[in-house]
Formats: sequence, structure tokens, C-alpha cells
Amino acid sequence: MDYPVRYDVIVVGGGHAGTEAALAAARTGSKTLLLTHNTDTVGVMSCNPAIGGIGKSHLVKEIDALGGAMARATDKAGIQFRTLNSRKGPAVRATRAQADRALYRSAIRQIVENQPNLDIFQAACDDLIMQGDGVGSTVAGVVTNTNMRIHATSVVLTAGTFLGGLIHIGMENHSGGRAGDPPSIALAKRLREMPFNVGRLKTGTPARIDRRSVDFSVMEEQPGDTPLPVMSFLGSVDEHPEQVSCYITHTNERTHDIIRSNLDRSPMFAGVIEGVGPRYCPSIEDKVTRFADKNSHQIFVEPEGLNSNELYPNGISTSLPFDVQLDLIHSMVGFENAHITRPGYAIEYDYFDPQDLKHSLETKFVNNLFFAGQINGTTGYEEAGAQGLLAGTNAALRALEKDAWVPRRDQSYIGVLVDDLITMGTKEPYRMFTSRAEYRLVLREDNADLRLTEVGRDLGLVDDERWAAFTAKREAIETEAQRLKTTWVQPKTEEATALEGMGEAAITREYNLHDLLKRPGLTYSQVAPLKGEAVTNPQVAEQVEIQAKYDGYINRQMEEIEQLRRYENTLLPEDLDYEAIGGLSNEVKQKLATVRPATLGVASRISGITPAAISQILIHLKKRN
Ligand code: FAD
Repeated sequence: MDYPVRYDVIVVGGGHAGTEAALAAARTGSKTLLLTHNTDTVGVMSCNPAIGGIGKSHLVKEIDALGGAMARATDKAGIQFRTLNSRKGPAVRATRAQADRALYRSAIRQIVENQPNLDIFQAACDDLIMQGDGVGSTVAGVVTNTNMRIHATSVVLTAGTFLGGLIHIGMENHSGGRAGDPPSIALAKRLREMPFNVGRLKTGTPARIDRRSVDFSVMEEQPGDTPLPVMSFLGSVDEHPEQVSCYITHTNERTHDIIRSNLDRSPMFAGVIEGVGPRYCPSIEDKVTRFADKNSHQIFVEPEGLNSNELYPNGISTSLPFDVQLDLIHSMVGFENAHITRPGYAIEYDYFDPQDLKHSLETKFVNNLFFAGQINGTTGYEEAGAQGLLAGTNAALRALEKDAWVPRRDQSYIGVLVDDLITMGTKEPYRMFTSRAEYRLVLREDNADLRLTEVGRDLGLVDDERWAAFTAKREAIETEAQRLKTTWVQPKTEEATALEGMGEAAITREYNLHDLLKRPGLTYSQVAPLKGEAVTNPQVAEQVEIQAKYDGYINRQMEEIEQLRRYENTLLPEDLDYEAIGGLSNEVKQKLATVRPATLGVASRISGITPAAISQILIHLKKRN
């Protein structure tokens, strides 16, 4: 049977990629359908209830700058907020929020349900409607498990860990999309018949514990930060629910002995699991073997929600059998009598080689079909949400017969994420880090709106409310920076004396407030009110301060970006002899000879290929021509 409505865009899956994809497509004005297994699981957090963290909050704020939902939902659901790396430079500073799982899901659901142009329908997608087959074919809609055919111009697949999902607890395993949800078997089978390169990855989650069985008095308490951070550029601390603490305990030698003596019962070590797991979020059995010299690991004990007794012990993800999970948890301080409410488990699932995608996230082999989220080999809600937003936007642009939007690496972490995946592929679950971005100082979490909101407005993603707030903020930053540049402090005045009182050397000549703000010892709140009035909006004050203090470094990075952009598409001849290029280390020569990058831009993104090496290649090319 044909479904009664034809859509511009159908998004399959209501997880983090799917919700951002559907919302973005609908915001552009495209008639969009979100098709998912269960409308009650829209926005469910499959693993730890936390959003943000290093590298990840950059993505969340970029999604926000483009009008997405993740940051807004986090402000409504966050029960403990922290600023990480607060003593380091602004490039690596990050915001992390512990979320109330139920509040987060309901915030996302509310946003999705109230989005104009967006319908939700509960069904499994078992097949795709195709025009033609094989490479060069075009998708034209989806077929549900009840044999309903729904037609659309573009389809975005965001099936997460569900494709061929296999759950492992010890040597027992069963099919599942995640604990409590069915897997997606028919669709996985269909996709394997198509011309995609499919692999298996795995991820895991720890057991959950009943808070009533835990002794917090022997654990270290970790409250949130004051002043309370917010995630969204439109967010306010008034939206935050009640704030609570997390706690810290540790594994010990006994825990490690229990794990080591049961490794033969671990599906990972016994070779039952084929998929590769996340390097930076390893299971506890992996940590104990990989870091054999460490006799303790820190475990964060995180609440799952304000109205829930369940706790998430962050750091002991495992697929060991249940009896071993019980023993290892009981061996830890404060957990001696812990009651497990849900066992930990690992899940293996199908993913597609992201090198088979275009930078728009459309597949290279099937027109109008877009992939986003965990199925592209990534891990994490933030990575999924960012891809979802991009795929949803481009699926809508395709339906509107407009060119795709491809975010650049020097413009956004979304650009870094997609470019990394597509140029290098991934053999293990990929997560974002600030170290993956070469232009960190320009791509800060605090300026995501300045980098992207205008782009989002042009794409139709940013509504009038956000646009008005953004333009007012941008103007306020410019006005205040200008005021500081034209307000002067003279020697032997009240202001000079005040500065000297702040520990500054004697003021012997006139300075403008902007130059004073560049000094390492002085802050905006000290300098701005010396003459005239400081701004009260903390986001404006922060921007003015960062832009002044890092002026020189930021300008240098902008010049580098400009230079590279000029040579980005310079072709590297296929027969280029890297051995003949002077000034390159053997390691760099070997890497380049192995990868044989097509352009200088691609070469510059190979890990270990420095700007100096790129200059050497350029000089060589010029001589050769
Ligand atoms: P998901 O959130 O999985 O959403 C997929 C959605 O698609 C679901 O709504 C599902 O019902 C729907 N769906 C699937 N197939 C179909 C179909 N055929 N028809 C209709 N609907 C369909 N991330 C970390 O960063 N760190 C971790 O330690 C971590 N551990 C994890 C442990 C486990 C056990 C699991 C399951 C996930 C873990 N994750 C972890 C990953 C994190 O949950 C995902 O990265 C994130 O949820 C991916 O978002 P997504 O939108 O791609 O997929």
C-alpha cells in the first residue's frame, strides 16, 4: 500500500542523528517525515546521560548555532554542568552537562513534535524504494515492515547501532538494537545487497546501580561549577532543573584481579566479538589489560536523573558475564553492597565505510540517499547530531534542487568530522577531539555562533528569534571592541592608579583599553569599567576579551587558512617522487608515498604532515613546473 503523503525528505531513525536531520530538513521548509521504530524512544540516550565534553561541546554549540536541538534540550535537562579545561586556553575549553535522561528525551520530543513541516510515524523501515539498481541508482522512498511504501525525493538513514545489532553479555548473545529495543535485520540485509562496503564495530555500556545500595560517604563528591555554564547561545541558567553532584570512586587491585582471572569468559578476549571497539572509551577489561601497570582507574558515579534511583558508573563499561560484573562492582569502595539494576553489555553492529560518501553525506553509489550518525563509523551523541544536521540539510537542499552545503575544516568541527571520515575512513569508532582540528584557535566553542549562524540563516536553518539575538550580540561585540580601542588611559590619572593597584607596572604613557586588555594579568571586568560602562552580557564580554587577548595568534591562523585555501586544490602528480623532495623527514616521505594524496589540501590533513612539509612540497612543485 502507498502511504497517503509524499515527502521531500524521509529520515529513518529517531536517535541523535535522526532528530537533528529531521528538524534541519523541516526548518528549511521541506516536507519531512521522521520514521522510527518507536515514537516513545525519540531522543533516547543509549549510553551515558551526558552531553558535551572536550571536542564534543564544540559540535553541540555548532549544532546550536545552526538552529539545532541538542544544546537547547541540554539546558532543560542538565543536572550538573561543568567547564572543562577552564585553566587552559579558550580553544580547548569545553562545556559538559550531566543530563537527566527522562528530561532530555522529553525536551527533544517536545521540539520534534512542535516543528512545522515535520511529521512523525512509528514503523520500521525494512527496505528502500529504488529507481534502477546498483551504482548510479536513485532512492525514491522507503518500505515499512507493514509493507507500506512511502515516497520521497531524499532519504536519510540514521539507524545507529541497530543494523544487525548483536548484544553480548559474557558468552551469551542475542539480537537487539540496544538493550530493550529490537534490531534492524531486514534493512541490514537489504543494505548488504547494495554496493556499500560494510564492516562491524562494537561499543559497550556499564551496569547501572541502585543509588539506595551505595555508600556515598566514602566517595569524593564532585559538584557542578559556579557560575553555572549554559550550553545554548540562547540558553539561560533559569532553564536548568535542580543541580546535583556526581561522585568519584576507583577500581583497585582486587577489581583488576577479578577481571584478569575471568578474561576467558569475556566475549571480546575469547574472540566472539569481531567488531573493533572505541579506543577512547574502552571497556574495563580492555583498560586493565592495555594499561597493565596501572593499579587503579577513576570511576565517576553519575545520577541518571532527578526522579530515578539509577546511577551510571562511568568507566566500567563491560561485556563480562553478570556474576563477574557483580564481583568487580562489589570490590570497589562505596559499591560493596551495590545492587545492579541493569547488566552492562557490548553491542556489535554494521557500519558503512564513510569513504563511500560525498562531503554532503550523500552516498556515492545511490543518488539522494544520505547516511548519518553511528552507521558512518562514529561514536557519541554529538558526532551523530552534527552529521544528522548536515545530512538533513543536504537532503532538503537536494529536494529543493539547490547545491549541497559542505562545511569547511577551517570553519567548523562539523567540517573536520566529515572531512576526516571521508578522506581517511575509519576502522574503529571515531570520536571528536580538539586535537583533530588544525585551526583550534579559530574554531572555539565560544564563537560557534559567530562562525556559523549567518551560514545557517542563509540555508534556512535559523529562525527569526535566533537571528535577532545573534545580530544584536554581534553588533554589541563590535561596538564594545570599538569603544575599548578608542578609550584612552593617561599616566597619573585615577585610572592609571587603579591599574597600578591591580599589580600592573607604572603607567608611563597613554594606552587604550583594548591594548590594556591584551595584557595577561588583566581581565575584561577589570579593564572595561575603568572608563565608561562595561557590557553586562557575559557572552559579549567573553568574546571581546578573547578576541583582544588572542588577536595576534588568531590573525596568524587566519593567514595560514587563507594561504592553504589558495593551494587547497593544487593537484599532486600521480608520479610525484616524494623521496626527491628536500627537507622532508623519512616518516613524512613514507606517509605521503603510501597515501598518495590527490591534492595539497588532502596532504595537509594526513596526521603528522606539518605546514612546513606542505611548504616544501609547494617549493618542489614550483621547481618541477
Ligand atoms: P541511535 O541513537 O542508536 O538511534 C538510532 C535510531 O534509529 C533509533 O531510534 C532506532 O529505533 C532507529 N532505527 C534503527 N533502525 C531503524 C529502522 N530500520 N526503522 C526505523 N527506525 C530505526 N557513545 C559514546 O560516545 N560513548 C560510549 O561509551 C557509548 N557507549 C554506547 C554503548 C551502547 C551499548 C550503545 C547502544 C551506544 C553507545 N554509544 C556511546 C553510542 C551512542 O549511543 C551513539 O553514538 C548515538 O546514540 C548514535 O546516534 P544515532 O542517532 O546514530 O543512533
